[in-house]
Amino acid sequence: MFRTAIAGSLPKPSWLAETEKLWPEWKASGAELERAKADATLLWLKVQEDAGIDIVGDGEQSRQHFVHGFLAQVEGIDFEHKVKMGIRNNRYDAMVPQVVGPLRLAGRVHAAEAQLARAHTDKLLKFTLPGPMTIVDTVADRHYGEGKQGRIRLAFAFAELLNQEARALQADGVDVVQFDEPAFNVYMADAAEWGVAALERAAEGLTCKTAVHICYGYGIKANVDWKATLGEEWRQYEQVFPALAKSAIDQVSLECFHSHVPPELMRLLAGKDVMVGVIDVASDTIETPEEIAETIGRALQFVPRERLVACTNCGLAPMRREVAEAKLAALAKGAALARQRFA
Ligand code: ZN
Repeated sequence: MFRTAIAGSLPKPSWLAETEKLWPEWKASGAELERAKADATLLWLKVQEDAGIDIVGDGEQSRQHFVHGFLAQVEGIDFEHKVKMGIRNNRYDAMVPQVVGPLRLAGRVHAAEAQLARAHTDKLLKFTLPGPMTIVDTVADRHYGEGKQGRIRLAFAFAELLNQEARALQADGVDVVQFDEPAFNVYMADAAEWGVAALERAAEGLTCKTAVHICYGYGIKANVDWKATLGEEWRQYEQVFPALAKSAIDQVSLECFHSHVPPELMRLLAGKDVMVGVIDVASDTIETPEEIAETIGRALQFVPRERLVACTNCGLAPMRREVAEAKLAALAKGAALARQRFA
């Protein structure tokens, strides 16, 4: 009951990359960089285990950014000529690579870190990939065509590649493949119309657990400012959850603590495991076990106890390392308290 997990990313140590940045520069290159990525992956596995996290991950230590890490292995993408583009409905500008031809995987994307993590932990292992719709929102397309039909074609092209990598991750021994779709909270109508279908294409044929993470973004200023404009009640999930409830995806990860999401929206996910965000990623204040148990208690009104996983609201990548470590420890303590209280 109340297993614990992280959404995905963890801060990169200062010897691996720049800290407190979403697109950090690596501190090394070549074989030295690969060694440093592997060391950081092992370090975070140990920190998660020591904290008492039940479903662990690689902390995304081997990718510069949660979307562009996947794209680095895709042919048909020009990384040399990035362009500035407003992403998430122009919430903030990013330098994004361009799609210039038909997409094809150049090879495995995450084999090294997935196999390394699998070899070094007996815990359940979750691995994250960007979802098709969020990838489409984080690249500049010059090949698949204008307008909605072009975006749909591009999303399904990415979904096919994601599916190849996801099947390979499953073969590596990953227990949960999670797709990150923050774009679902921005383009809700499109998400319900074709985003969930593209997501299902990405997860097709998987027999391990499949998950989707939908959030209001990392704790960066552009997102904090955006959230301030969303009003008293954040009802974005209401448009997407019914489509997800009908989908083949097993688990849904959502924001809860310190968000204005009405908790009763979790009712729309009947039949799914729900990863409830009990850790705020936009604040350095460490949650108390009492606060975490309370959040779990609130969610329990709408989610059966055997389906509730206690999770972070989003990734912790841009945080200070010591803050992230303290939040992981708090997460495990809070879930333990909730187990006592709600057993
Ligand atoms: Zn997130």
